[in-house]
Amino acid sequence: MKHCFRCWAEVDLDALRGNLAWIRHRVGPQVKIMTVVKADAYGHGLKQIAALLMQNGTDLFGVANLAEARAIHSVGQGWPVLMLGACLPDEAELTVLDGVIPTISTLQEAKRFSQAASRLNRPTRVHIKVDTGMGRLGVSVRKARELIVQVNRLPGLKLEGIYTHYASVEDDLEFSRAQRKRFQTLLDRLEVEGMAIPMIHANNSGALLHEPGTLFNLVRPGLLVYGVAPPGKRRLASTLQKHLHAALALKCRVSLVKEIPRGTPLSYGRMFVARTKMRVATLTAGYGDGYLRACSNRARVLIDGKRCPVLGRVTMDQMIADVSRVPGVKPGDEVVLIGRQRGDEISVNELAGWCDTIPWEVLTSISYRVPRIYRGSQAA
Ligand SMILES: *Cc1c(COP(=O)(O)O)cnc(C)c1O
Repeated sequence: MKHCFRCWAEVDLDALRGNLAWIRHRVGPQVKIMTVVKADAYGHGLKQIAALLMQNGTDLFGVANLAEARAIHSVGQGWPVLMLGACLPDEAELTVLDGVIPTISTLQEAKRFSQAASRLNRPTRVHIKVDTGMGRLGVSVRKARELIVQVNRLPGLKLEGIYTHYASVEDDLEFSRAQRKRFQTLLDRLEVEGMAIPMIHANNSGALLHEPGTLFNLVRPGLLVYGVAPPGKRRLASTLQKHLHAALALKCRVSLVKEIPRGTPLSYGRMFVARTKMRVATLTAGYGDGYLRACSNRARVLIDGKRCPVLGRVTMDQMIADVSRVPGVKPGDEVVLIGRQRGDEISVNELAGWCDTIPWEVLTSISYRVPRIYRGSQAA
C-alpha cells in the first residue's frame, strides 16, 4: 500500500452498491428508498456516498441539517433531500432557497415556510411528521388531521409526505405495532376524507427488517445501507448476513514493538499491569481518530490475522496491544480495528459491544483526521 497514513478508513463502494441493491430487492419496485446519509453518511464520507447511491437507484436522501443538504447539492443540484431534523426559525428562507424538503411538526413551522415560499416565489414541498411514540419530533396523532388541513390551505406549500419514527423497533415488537396502528388509523381516516398524501414512510433499518409487511410506500434505511445490521434481541436470519456487506474498514499500524517484564504498567492511569513478561505493540490510532476511549482494556484488534487485546487506556493518538501471540510483528504492520484480516473479522457491532455503545455511534465517531479511501469499481 502506497500511503503513510497512521489511521485510515477504507470504504468499499461495491459493498454499498450491493447493500442498496439488496434493499431494493427486499422492498420491491413499488416502494421508494430514502437513503439516510446524515453525519457524513454515517462516517463514510457524504459526497462520495451520495453520488454512488444516486447512481445506483436511491430515490431521496435523508439528512440532519442544511449543511449536509448543501453538500449533497454540491454533487447533484436538485437531488431530493429531506431534512429529518426540525428547521431552526432562521433557517426557513435558506431551506426554501436551497430546495430542501423540511419536516414539519407544528403550524408555526408551516407558516414560516409558507411565508418564505411566497416571499421567494418558490413553491416548497414539505413532509409532516407524526409522533406515535418517539416523543422527539412530530405532531401528536390527535392533532395531525387539523395540522394537515391547515398546511393544505397555506400558500406556497405542497404537502408531499407524512411520516413517523419507531422508538424501539429492535427490542419491543408490541410497542412498535402500537405505533404503527396509531399511524395507520390516521392514514385510513385521511384516505376516507380524500386527504391522502403521496409519500408515506416509517421504516428505518430495524423496521425494514422486522416489519416487512408494513413498508408503506417509502423506507428510510441508514445503517443497512452501510452493511451493518441493527443490533437487538431479535436475531436476524443468516441469509441476511450473506447479503449485507460492511462497507467500512478502520485500520492503523504498529509503530513500536517491545518486550515488557512482569509488573510493567501500561498507559494513563496504569489501568493495566503486566502479570507476566509479554510482548506489546504501540499502535497509531486513538480516541482522536474516533476509536472510543470506552474500548480501553476491553477491545481486540487484528494483527497478522490474530486477535490482540487492547491493553490499558486508549489515548488520543496511540494505544497499546498485546502481541505476545504474534511472533513476527514489526513496526509498520497493518492493524485492523474494524473489518477483516485473514479469516477473522471485527464487526462494527462487536466493537460497539465492547464499548457499551451502538454501531451508529462507533461509525459516526470516526473523526475528520481519518482519511477515507474509496475502493471498488466506481471509486474515483
Ligand atoms: C437516522 C434516521 C433513520 C435511519 O435509521 P437507521 O436505523 O440507521 O436505519 C431513519 N429515519 C429517521 C427519522 C432518522 O433520524
